[in-house]
Amino acid sequence: MTANRPTKLTPMMEQYLQIKDQYPQCLLFYRMGDFYELFFEDAEVAARDLQITLTSRSSSNSEFRIPMCGVPYHAVETYLPKLLAKGHNVAICEQVEDPREAKGLVKREVKRILTPGTVVEDVNLVAKGHNFLGALCWDTKNNSGGLAWVDYSTGDWSGMQLKKQADLWQWAQKMSPRELIIPEELTPPPSFALTNTIILKKPAKAFFDLKRSTEKILESQNIVELGALGLEKSNELVRACGALLTYLKLTQKAELTHLSRFKPLNLSKHLILDDITERNLELFKTLDGRKGLGTLWQVMDHTLTPMGGRLLAERMRHPWRDLTPILETQNAVEYFFTNDALRKDIRSALDLVYDLERLSTRIQLNRAAPKDFVALRQSISALPTVRSILEKVPSEAEQYTTMDEEQKLTLPDWLTKLLKHWDDLADYYELLDKAFVDNPPPLITEGGLFKHGFHNELNELIELSEHGESKLEELLQEEQEATGIQKMKLKYNRVFGYFFDVPKGSVANVPDYFVRRQTLANSERYSTPKLKELEEKLLAATDKRKSLEYKLFQKMRETMAEARSRLLFMADVLAGLDYWQSLAEAARKWNWSRPSLHSETHISIKDGRHPVVEAVQGSSNFIPNDLRVDNKRKLLLITGPNMAGKSTVLRQMAIICILAQMGSFVPAREATIGIADRVFSRVGASDNLAQGQSTFMVEMMETARILRQATKRSLIILDEIGRGTSTFDGLSLAWAVVEELCRKSEGIRTLFATHYHELTALEGKIAGVHNMNIAIKEWGGEIVFLRRLVPGPSDRSYGIEVANLAGVPANVVKRAKEVLTSLESNSQNSNQVQAAATMASLLPGIPEAPPKNKAAKTPPVNTEPIDHPLVTALKDLDTDNMTPMDALKQLTEWKLLW
Ligand code: ADP
Repeated sequence: MTANRPTKLTPMMEQYLQIKDQYPQCLLFYRMGDFYELFFEDAEVAARDLQITLTSRSSSNSEFRIPMCGVPYHAVETYLPKLLAKGHNVAICEQVEDPREAKGLVKREVKRILTPGTVVEDVNLVAKGHNFLGALCWDTKNNSGGLAWVDYSTGDWSGMQLKKQADLWQWAQKMSPRELIIPEELTPPPSFALTNTIILKKPAKAFFDLKRSTEKILESQNIVELGALGLEKSNELVRACGALLTYLKLTQKAELTHLSRFKPLNLSKHLILDDITERNLELFKTLDGRKGLGTLWQVMDHTLTPMGGRLLAERMRHPWRDLTPILETQNAVEYFFTNDALRKDIRSALDLVYDLERLSTRIQLNRAAPKDFVALRQSISALPTVRSILEKVPSEAEQYTTMDEEQKLTLPDWLTKLLKHWDDLADYYELLDKAFVDNPPPLITEGGLFKHGFHNELNELIELSEHGESKLEELLQEEQEATGIQKMKLKYNRVFGYFFDVPKGSVANVPDYFVRRQTLANSERYSTPKLKELEEKLLAATDKRKSLEYKLFQKMRETMAEARSRLLFMADVLAGLDYWQSLAEAARKWNWSRPSLHSETHISIKDGRHPVVEAVQGSSNFIPNDLRVDNKRKLLLITGPNMAGKSTVLRQMAIICILAQMGSFVPAREATIGIADRVFSRVGASDNLAQGQSTFMVEMMETARILRQATKRSLIILDEIGRGTSTFDGLSLAWAVVEELCRKSEGIRTLFATHYHELTALEGKIAGVHNMNIAIKEWGGEIVFLRRLVPGPSDRSYGIEVANLAGVPANVVKRAKEVLTSLESNSQNSNQVQAAATMASLLPGIPEAPPKNKAAKTPPVNTEPIDHPLVTALKDLDTDNMTPMDALKQLTEWKLLW
């Protein structure tokens, strides 16, 4: 910035630059009266990103003008999210003394720094999502690394220590923090750079030092040894936590007392879903990165509170692995599922509850606005309502089915336990109710926050400032009666303040204590000692009221801050209730059933559905399917033409298992599920993106990882693995992968969808392999998708029929059939491997040579020129740079055209 600075500056600009130099990474919002101003490059950036006018002001040397722009201080919160969304940090610099009392230049200080990963205001946050700040470090000597994350807006924080750097990065990607702090020397892998996380490279010594980190953790958690948090042997995790705390201290300039107790993520307690699985199954985003329609989240989310929403997201990311919490959740969900009236009542009560966690954080951090207290009051007011709804014993008709006979007319144990610890927070409600008006102004310095009746001294001041007019009116009447001058009026101007205006004709009746202030053509203006006194009282009252209300607000804030642990406890309780009712609501809406879970490995699903595909195309258009995996059929090899429904059936199995381990009901008529420790889902390269070799490489690395990490409790979904390379390579790889999956740990539960019909020969040769296919029907040369999963391999791929269905012109389809017939006659005994080799000889660009022993017979060459415009368009298509979505769109366009 120095290059663009003028040489001579006003004292204020000198102060500005001095402060700015301390925060080079931030846009500095510099308070000047009623505005926050930005100067120099900051002004240019902010004017561009906020779409506000860039102006300039003169510096001392007149030829240089300083670029500037500004926003009104009371509207600053509406501008900040835009800057944070663009990845900027903002430093808010306030006037720290009253300008009226300042000698010389007003003192200013940066009071807070906003960064995308540390914001606490609702406008900057997604209500039902966490906003994480993360830190990751790696120790080459120990060959171990730590990843920690904190949601500063709720105070939640957690982390893990791992032995493989690649896994650590993948977890970082899964947690997707808005900002990730890493030591300077560490470089994220290329795939990681694709996410929208901001990487902050920080010096390891200052941020990740073990000793300092330990001290910081002990201090912030108010404990004497790391063992209390189970961190005594996790040096790298401790260092990652240390980096988080250092960064928070640096940016927030506040004590970190609102952070909850650190809980390391215990992977052995959860069903692990890596980031790629999460993406493939489209849990939160569709494959093309959109949120909303097409995601499991959209089908599942019926939560009404932000806390409930965040809990649902967390459980979807980390379902359970232990039976106990799953069964407990199922009981609660069934209770709400069976009793429609109860669910309806609970839903309307929860709808009144705001974000208790974030409200409480803002109160704790002294960043709460008056409306936050009103929101808190409304949220607390829902507590007794929710309690009384829960206390009502369900009638016979509303009983839940699995309850013991003798328990039937009582509340279930889990609910009795929950109610035993219930806290209405009545004392705090009473206080808030007595204190705050319903629609307080946004600023705490202007008064008008508190109700009449809350505070004695304030009552009097409210009386005076709000009822001043009537007091003046009373005085006027008094004087009119005393003097007999009925035409006397009370007026106000800025020079004289209040005065009595007496018409010329009545001046003779004015008593002595009237002091003349001004003479006009038709009247004289007077003041009286009483009027003066009242006026001063009125003016003082307004000022006094403002400052008393400010003090009372601070006091209220402190009182409410003391309620944090009770508030958070009830926030947790409400989140849990919201989670259960949301699962019950989803189960009712989509007609799901309660699965039975066990610790063996077999899985049996009757009439299973893919919840998202079903939601998109409607229940009546979805064909349910049965699936069974057990000791004899560990690996289901699923074949069938493109578009038959292979991916759908694969994903549906994984999603049903995930839902079951969240304690949810599942989209199936009946389901028995052996709990899994991990679900892996991988999609073959060509299904993913046509990016050639590099994608194939990624696919193989992923496959390698699955083979390494999967245990006998895992569930694997492989969709068209091996397609990203030449036919033989792909087939051989797929073959070897199938063999390994059946061999390792006596077979790992796998659903394997493939185009390679050759693999179906493995059934009977390798124990555990079982062929299934998705049935289709041929009808007058056309095919009909039946979407039914049936035993046995599919007879062939029907690629040409699918092309026909997709609208490829008849002459191209006809020609394809000729080529196919020729190929098939070449590949005697339907030896498809050979057929593929023959194909290699036919098509340029495929490296495999034709088998030496049998020379390939080329099919008759079609010499007719094909000049259909579709063929030209096909030739021009840049398939290397198309996404599957683009390709589909293109097909649809063609379909409409021809
Ligand atoms: P494949 O993987 O075999 O190419 P997909 O699983 O992608 O096929 O399915 C293609 C389309 O077929 C899906 O987008 C969906 O619209 C439809 N589909 C799949 N399974 C079913 C089903 N069981 N019932 C109804 N429609 C289905």
